[in-house]
Formats: sequence, structure tokens, C-alpha cells
Amino acid sequence: MSKVVKFGGSSLASAEQFEKVGSIIRAEAERRFVVPSAPGKRFSADTKVTDMLYGCYALAEADKDFSKELKAIKARYEEIIKGLKLKLSLDDEFVTIEKNFKEKAGKDYAASRGEYLNGIIMANYLGFEFIDSATVIFFNEDGTFNANKTNDVLSKRLEGLQNAVVPGFYGAYDNGKVKTFSRGGSDITGSIVAKAIHADVYENWTDVSGCLVTDPRIVKNPQKIDIITYRELRELAYMGASVLHEDAIFPVRQEGIPINIRNTNDPGNSGTWIVGSTGQKSKYVITGIAGKKGFCSINIEKDMMNSEVGFGRKVLQAFEESNISFEHLPSGIDTMTVFVHQDEFMDKEQKVVSTIQRLAKPDTIDIESDLALIAVVGRGMRATRGTAARIFSALAHAHINIKMIDQGSSEMNIIIGVANDDFENAIKAIYDIFVETCL
Ligand code: ADP
Ligand code: ASP
Ligand code: MG
Repeated sequence: MSKVVKFGGSSLASAEQFEKVGSIIRAEAERRFVVPSAPGKRFSADTKVTDMLYGCYALAEADKDFSKELKAIKARYEEIIKGLKLKLSLDDEFVTIEKNFKEKAGKDYAASRGEYLNGIIMANYLGFEFIDSATVIFFNEDGTFNANKTNDVLSKRLEGLQNAVVPGFYGAYDNGKVKTFSRGGSDITGSIVAKAIHADVYENWTDVSGCLVTDPRIVKNPQKIDIITYRELRELAYMGASVLHEDAIFPVRQEGIPINIRNTNDPGNSGTWIVGSTGQKSKYVITGIAGKKGFCSINIEKDMMNSEVGFGRKVLQAFEESNISFEHLPSGIDTMTVFVHQDEFMDKEQKVVSTIQRLAKPDTIDIESDLALIAVVGRGMRATRGTAARIFSALAHAHINIKMIDQGSSEMNIIIGVANDDFENAIKAIYDIFVETCL
């Protein structure tokens, strides 16, 4: 039996946290391959090392003095090394980093040093081999992840090794230039390593006791989800449940490897299991609720739109020409609405509107901004009547106006649009009706 264990930033923010991680790894010999993140926040007002690195490199790129900022980063690692009483010096590493910053090695190189250095410390602390992810995780020239090459090289590299530390978040192009995944990407590295060794389980250790029914920053102490499918989790993660990176399920899903989300500060808690399919019913009709702010809706009206062949294509072409992807597309007989990310749309607003006018000749175009989308997700929803009605009534009771409601064809999710200002209250109201009233 083999497990890959990934530890997030807050699990590795200090020597004390490292010690907890050490006991978790030593408790089971199956925990053979370790994927660490960069040190995160030690307390709520603290700064993650990754953010310190981005800040420091921005100065280097602008040819400004960055010595103070780099020293502060080094101090974060030295505090951990000293606390763990390791005989390890990162002096040479920091000389190289300083030189590479001056030579403008790139923002991704800079950010990746957070995981790279933490990996060196972790390997030294555990007595495991250290593997630089730039030598085993690869990206294509267009910046996408090169899954085939990675799997070939990584599985060969790990074959025959009893243990190893593979830092999260980064890899390299074929020419060796470092490239990172998007923020939170160490979760993806863990999944890639689990696939490469055909692990039995991918354990993802963080600072909460699993995937919770909703964001604990919005609802106090939400219930834990015991078991959830990859598909449900992907929907929730994409819509803002930041406990796991939205792309982290792909490598393990191909192999059917379950993910177990666990809490470094409460290792006795069994956490959440993320699996391919399960006959186990979720405790409530819904499995989870997540959401994001910052959307815009473009409402397009034209009489007899439904009978005009190609109308939808013309509207979407206008977005495509401005390189904007759409998020949702609810439609009626004479209306069609396109939901897009506000920050991507605003600069191109007038261009998109005039292209729609030219291509589709609608009667009216009306734009609404500052909207939030909330996803209510659950495999149990298909078999239950009245889910949408309960959402409507919960929001009506909370005096929240629903701008849009859209049920996915899988009947596994309902997406609701509300004003940004109503976002938190809407999530609380939906949580209350499906969870609190059932406790
Ligand atoms: P790590 O550094 O371990 O990768 P993250 O900060 O990326 O941890 O993810 C854990 C955080 O995700 C939690 O502390 C919590 O604030 C947030 N979060 C958002 N939605 C959820 C959810 N549905 N369940 C659990 N945590 C959530
Ligand atoms: N350290 C990176 C970040 O802060 C990656 C990760 O933590 O997963 O985004
Ligand atoms: Mg994370």
C-alpha cells in the first residue's frame, strides 16, 4: 500500500507545524511520497512566503533593491530550520536565488522557490530523497501541463524509491525554464505524483477537517462532507470551494485513486473522501454550496429569437472575437443571457456590444454588473423534487432577489445569480434551509 501526502502552506508555516507533519508521516510507513507547499501564514495577519516571493521579485524586475525583502524570506526558512534543530544551511541556495533574481529569471521561477526550499528542508528533516520538480514535471510550450511526458519521467524516477519529497506547484518547460501551476497548484502536483506511483490514496492535508458543506469564512462551523464524488467536488472547487484546486482531481480520477482531505491540526478526524462514485447517500439533499463574486450578465432580447437559426452562435462569436469565455448561458424564447467574468469583460465591453449588434441584430442589449454566482451541488438532487423551490423560498425569506437560476443538464447542480451584496446572506440562507433545519 502506498500513499502520497500533500501538505498545504499553513501545515508547514513553522517548526511546530513541521513537527506535526513529521509525526503524521512517521505514523504510517505507507506515507511514502511527500509533496510540500511553501510556508503559509503562521497567524491571520501574516504573509505567505509565495506572496513574499512575488513581491520581492517585482522589485528585482524593476531594478530596485530587494535585499531586505529577500532577507525576510530567508528568515522564514531559518526560523523553521532552527526550530527543528537541523544541520542545514540554505546560504548557497540564497546566493543562487539572488543572482537569478538579478538576471530576471522570471516570476514563476521566483514563486517556485517557496516550495523548492521547503522541500529541501522537509527532505532533510525526514531523511528522504529530494527531487527537484523542474526535473520531473513538464509543461508544453503553450504553458499547458504535459501529462504524458511528466508521467513517463516521474514514474521512472520514483520507481524503486521507498520515499521521496517532490515539492508542489512547479515544473519546467523542456528547455528547463521553471513554470508554475496557478495559485494553490501544489494540490495538482500531489495528484500527479499519486498517479505516477499508482498510489492507493492521495492524502491532502490542510487546516480544516475536510471539505465542508460551505465556506467556513461565510458560515460558522459548517458541517463536514464525509464522502463526495470527483464530479461534485470539481463543480464546488471551480465555483470557489478553495479547499482543493479545481484541476487537482484530473490525474487521480483517471486512475480511480481516492483523495482524502485531512486536517494537520486534527489528524484523528477521518476528513473527506473524494471518490469516483458512491452509493452512499449524502446526509442532506445537497452535498455542498460554493460561489464567486464578480460577474456581469449581458441580456440580449430579440423577438422570435428562438426560431432564428444561428442566433446563439452569432452572439457567442462576439465574445469569442474578444477572447472572452462565458460562464453560463440561460435562455428564454426571446431572450438569451451571457454570464462572464467582470474583470475580463469590462475593458472590452463596447467592442463586444457593437459586435453583437453587427452580427445578431438584437432588439435590445442590457448589461448588469456586480453579480455573484452560487452553485448548489449534490448527486442526491436528481432524485429529489422541490430543490429549486426550497432555494427560492429560502432566498425570498431572506429578502434576496434572484437574478438567474440555471439547472445543469446533469441535474447535479443549480446555479443561482444574485447581487454581489447579497452573496454571503444567500449562502447562509441556502445552508440553513438544507442543513440547519435538518439537524
Ligand atoms: P492549503 O494551504 O492547505 O492548501 P487552502 O487555504 O488552500 O489550504 O485551503 C483550505 C481553506 O479553504 C480553508 O482554510 C477554508 O478557509 C477554505 N475553504 C473554502 N471553502 C471551503 C469548503 N467548502 N470546505 C473547506 N474549506 C474551504
Ligand atoms: N504556494 C502556492 C500558493 O500559495 C501553491 C500552493 O500553496 O498550493 O499558491
Ligand atoms: Mg491550497
